[in-house]
Formats: sequence, structure tokens, C-alpha cells
Amino acid sequence: MDRRIVAGNWKMNTTLREGVVLAEQLSQLVNRIPAGVEVIVAPPFTHLTEVRRALNPRIMLGAQDCSSRAQGAFTGDVSAEMLKDCGVEWVILGHSERRQYHGDDTPTLREKLGRVASVGLKPIFCVGEPENIRAQGQQNAWDWVAGQLKLLRGLGDSVLRELIVAYEPIWAIGTGKTATPEDAGWMCLRITRWLTSEIGEIGGMVPVLYGGSCNAANAKEIFSQPGVSGGLIGGASLKPEEFVSIACSF
Ligand code: PEP
Repeated sequence: MDRRIVAGNWKMNTTLREGVVLAEQLSQLVNRIPAGVEVIVAPPFTHLTEVRRALNPRIMLGAQDCSSRAQGAFTGDVSAEMLKDCGVEWVILGHSERRQYHGDDTPTLREKLGRVASVGLKPIFCVGEPENIRAQGQQNAWDWVAGQLKLLRGLGDSVLRELIVAYEPIWAIGTGKTATPEDAGWMCLRITRWLTSEIGEIGGMVPVLYGGSCNAANAKEIFSQPGVSGGLIGGASLKPEEFVSIACSF
């Protein structure tokens, strides 16, 4: 059966207390979510341990990034091993905000994917085109995304088996503009096709999520597109009722 996944990226939002309350509220509502839907939340680093304690075990813990280094003199960084120690299972890598504001380029992301894999964590790898590229048409958007996917080529089977790809057009993130369900579906299917042809059968099994102003009102139509395994949700993941409603949209 195809996987159904909803992941919430809290970004740099909530105080610790607010984050714990949000985790408690989600936990109270989680029974509404159909069995088999995988639910992940990625709070800020500082909240991981407390949020883990507050979360219903049905909800998996994610982190929003990790260091490209294993340990040592890298002030301000948080290693994959430290995340694992906090109960993290998933790590978002290559989010457009990390690429834009923190210089996460291809070599850095390759390192980060390696770190995540080396401690047995599972990556959610984000790709997506900027607005000016989208304005040049769907094919150009696809070429951009295909360029970002190339770094997945060297990954071993054990990482690929646990990988999620999130297609997040940059112009749709936090803007209230959403890709049409058809365009979102087309891109997700193209990603699956690319993964199959470039990586093999195991690549074709990788779930592909859509992200970018996804909410309770548009999730059902987007998730019903062939090729879309669910959503990576930013703003709407901070509202427990809405996030749960998105997770019920399959
Ligand atoms: C995101 O940051 O991954 C995201 C999809 O944000 P939003 O849902 O707010 O557009």
C-alpha cells in the first residue's frame, strides 16, 4: 500500500512552553487520524526533548536540520548524533530557507545526508524551484528540480529505503500561493520517475510529499493526486486542529 505521510515543520516558532502545549494538543487529537498515516513534527532544536516527552508515541519526532560535521569545534551546530539522542527519527534537509539563508549548497547537503545516514536517522530531502524559474514554465521548473535531485544518486540502499523527498516550490512556501493540484501531482510523479530511472526500483519507492501553503482547505485535492504521498506543512502545522485535519485528508 502507498504510504501516507504528514510532516509539520514548526520552523523558528513557539517558546518551549508553547511547543509543549502544541505537542500535548496534537497528542489529544491524534486518534482522529486514520491508522497508517505517518505523522511527524519537527520543532526547534531547543524543544526536542520536552516535545518528545509530551508527544503521543504515534507522532514521530523530526529536526529541521543538522550539522554537516560529526562533532568538534563547530560553534552553534547540532550533530546528527545529538539529534538521535533526543529521540529524533527524521531530519529535514535542503529546506529552501536553509539553502537561502545558511548556504546549504550541494556539497554541504551531501555531507549532511551522509551524517544523517551514519547514525540511522531518516532524511526528508526538500527540492523546489524559485518563482522566476516557474515563470519560465513547468519544464524549466522540472529541470531545476532534477538538478537538485542529482545528489541523491550516490546514496546507499539503506538510506534510500528510509528517504522522503518533499517537493516545495519556493514561491509557495509561506506565501498563501499553492501549486495547482495538477502541477503538484505532475512534479511529484516526475520526481518518482526520475528516482526510478536514475537510482532504480528502490528510488521509485521513495514517498514524495508536496509542501507550500498546504492547509486544511486544499490538502484533500493535493493528496488525491497520483504521485503525492502527503504533505510537508509549515504554518498550518502550528494549529493543532488544522494539522490533524490535514492528516485526515487522504
Ligand atoms: C515549509 O516551510 O516547508 C512549508 C511548506 O511552509 P508553509 O506550509 O507555511 O508554506
